[in-house]
Amino acid sequence: MAEADLLDLDLDGLTALVAELGQPTFRARQVWRQIWQRGTLDPQEMSDLPRALREQLAERIAPPPAATATQTSEDGSTTKALLPLADGEMVETVLIRHDPHAQAGSRVSPTARRTVCLSTQAGCAMGCTFCATGAQGFRRQLSVGEVLVQALLARSWARAEGGELTHVVFMGMGEPLANYEVVSAALERLSDADGFGLSPRRITVSTVGLPAQMRCLADDHPQVNLAVSLHAAEASLRRELVPVPPATPAEIVAAAREHSERTGRRVTFEYVLLAGVNDSRAQARALADRIAGIRCQVNLIPFNPSADVVGRRPSRRATLGFQQALVERGVAANVRVEKGRDIAAACGQLRGDRVRRDG
Ligand code: SF4
Repeated sequence: MAEADLLDLDLDGLTALVAELGQPTFRARQVWRQIWQRGTLDPQEMSDLPRALREQLAERIAPPPAATATQTSEDGSTTKALLPLADGEMVETVLIRHDPHAQAGSRVSPTARRTVCLSTQAGCAMGCTFCATGAQGFRRQLSVGEVLVQALLARSWARAEGGELTHVVFMGMGEPLANYEVVSAALERLSDADGFGLSPRRITVSTVGLPAQMRCLADDHPQVNLAVSLHAAEASLRRELVPVPPATPAEIVAAAREHSERTGRRVTFEYVLLAGVNDSRAQARALADRIAGIRCQVNLIPFNPSADVVGRRPSRRATLGFQQALVERGVAANVRVEKGRDIAAACGQLRGDRVRRDG
């Protein structure tokens, strides 16, 4: 086996590697727990392994990417890191702390909810007009190791604060369901009781609306939550805002309805509010009619300005009016509490970039 990326290996792959190194296969599970339970990524630090195996692994394993340019928002709620990948691509990952009892200026408590927002692609092909990632276009898929190293990194920050990573959302750079096999493998790994150990009910996959993959997700991971970024109830406006995926709002909502009925889980519809584009009360009523009867909630996200994207943030009045119109039609609707805008870590602001390498 050539030099492997340790984080890309599943337990069978790790067992094969350990056997190839002439070690008893039970060692594979020890390595697995070191990585996914303890977050030990350097084989030399896996203290329960014999020294010979640690050295063999260190020689055969590519080191995982290390975060650079870490920034934390002024209020301490949000930390963003840039991860340079082996080929020079860069992706961003974000840890968001929700601490309902925090006082201004106080430390985030160990019991706060901590959510990591994972990127799944370098760039994105979906072309959403209000999104900094979409403005870059698609560059490549991330591997399962490149997705999961972000979760390990965020968990290490959480643990350094005396807390724990409590939730994972696939809402960073890229369209997760356009990298389905990798996301599916990452979901397995995250919810492995002998590994990362997170309940699938604390994991959410967000999609711009790929009906076939939404159905696969319901089959393969029925306990994982689904969030659907709709942004418009009407087909022509939706095509303007999210130009690439071919499915219409009717088809996307039908797949979301099916997901909720098959899994028994509540779907979240995400709706970025753009001033003068999709923020009228009439559009709110059309949205309520479109999703009527689905067990769901709507998250309203006032547009976050960013370089390379056009759009205006709606007024507070328009935002609350839109929410009110939904509530009047019996739809549960929240305005997302925004975190990390000052470090460009809020929804739609993630950019990453490509490092240029000479030679
Ligand atoms: S909003 Fe999501 S799906 Fe749309 S371009 Fe940005 S990253 Fe891609």
